[in-house]
Amino acid sequence: MTLSSTASEGGPKSVINGKVAAPKVGFVSLGCAKALVDSERIMTRLRVEGYEIAPSYDGADVVVVNTCGFLDSAKAESLDAIGEAMAENGRVIVTGCFGLDRKVRETFPDVLAVTGPHQYEAVMEAVREAAPAPHAAYLDLVPPSGLRLTPDHYAYLKISEGCNNKCSFCIIPQLRGALASRPAADVLQEAEQLVERGVRELLVISQDTSAYGVDLKFAESEWRGHPLKARFYDLCAALGSLGAWVRLHYVYPYPHVDEVLPLMAEGKILPYLDIPFQHASPDVLRAMRRPANQEKTLDRIASWRKIVPDLAIRSTFIVGFPGETEEDFEFLLGWLREARLARVGCFRYENVEGAGSRALENQIADEVKEERYTRFMDVQKEVSEQVMAARVGQQIDVLVDEIDREGAIGRSSWDAPDIDGSIFLDGETDLAPGDIVRAVIEETDEYDCWGRLVG
Ligand code: SF4
Repeated sequence: MTLSSTASEGGPKSVINGKVAAPKVGFVSLGCAKALVDSERIMTRLRVEGYEIAPSYDGADVVVVNTCGFLDSAKAESLDAIGEAMAENGRVIVTGCFGLDRKVRETFPDVLAVTGPHQYEAVMEAVREAAPAPHAAYLDLVPPSGLRLTPDHYAYLKISEGCNNKCSFCIIPQLRGALASRPAADVLQEAEQLVERGVRELLVISQDTSAYGVDLKFAESEWRGHPLKARFYDLCAALGSLGAWVRLHYVYPYPHVDEVLPLMAEGKILPYLDIPFQHASPDVLRAMRRPANQEKTLDRIASWRKIVPDLAIRSTFIVGFPGETEEDFEFLLGWLREARLARVGCFRYENVEGAGSRALENQIADEVKEERYTRFMDVQKEVSEQVMAARVGQQIDVLVDEIDREGAIGRSSWDAPDIDGSIFLDGETDLAPGDIVRAVIEETDEYDCWGRLVG
């Protein structure tokens, strides 16, 4: 495992005025994009206080491990990462979703401190105790939008913490608390600073993006001299005015989501919705206690596509939820064929400790989960090949992510970084990450596209 480094290295020197050595903090960041933003915030605070970020274990005075505790597999990965940091360095602070699990202390009694998710101040206190901060802070070395772990041309924008829903398979509300939205002006100021620093794509994240502002009762705050409501539509419209790509993640199909489709049709925000449907069978959705489980989602998707024909919907699903019958599962496969989603991920249900669904009867055998997972992926592969093949000949904007020896690799409005597909522009080695170019799609497989520049 390599330690995180940031886009803005070169902070305080190890020796300043021949006397003061800045302590170095190693950072391991696990889990989802929301955890990544937590890591960015802690790293920003560290730099503000004059700490350096160490690129390796042996150069670090202390190592922070930001863990994920969402699924048992993620917990195992977190334990491995803590074990590695203990073996390689020995001075370890654990934070993040898995930090609240007693297994951390039981397995590693010698870790210096253990804190939960988004407890930035507690992490800072533990770091200060383990490696006292230098006397001077170096505020000017930290960009106004903070330090980031993503490349320079895209950034995650976290608009709220926590969640008011009570999905029976999920322990996030226990870990991260109730919904706490950031004031709209606060979010917009951060977004503006990111765009000023060259960010071309803003990825809006939270636990429940479409519930944004409910906890604030949609309170106004002042942005660019005008009041701006903490409301899903108003936030999307304001972000859409900044001139960057705006991509919405973790949206639920509440009726008010319809309001943002015209913004997509006008090109203000990307025609992309990441909606974690998790299932389609009404009985399973009810047992999962999913938000908006009464919505007729196929009708909604059809009406969205009338407004935005090019809309890309990505989603995740869980197969093998307790009580899922063969009929429920067949219903899901039929729904999947009809919905024709662009991008789909699938998880086999995990009986997470502390989740309400753990107590449900009719738990599904592992072999059945495995068999349903394979059938699900086979159906989606077919759908995906058809969706992708229909794109051949289309002209699209491509945001370049990287250049290798064969050419440029980028993404279109249909693809979020890390989770979706890529578009390969072979031979285009003169482009640079962050460029937005026009291309025509010439070939596709079930995930990726190949194209050439036009115009
Ligand atoms: S919406 Fe459901 S799955 Fe998502 S964080 Fe909230 S409770 Fe968990």
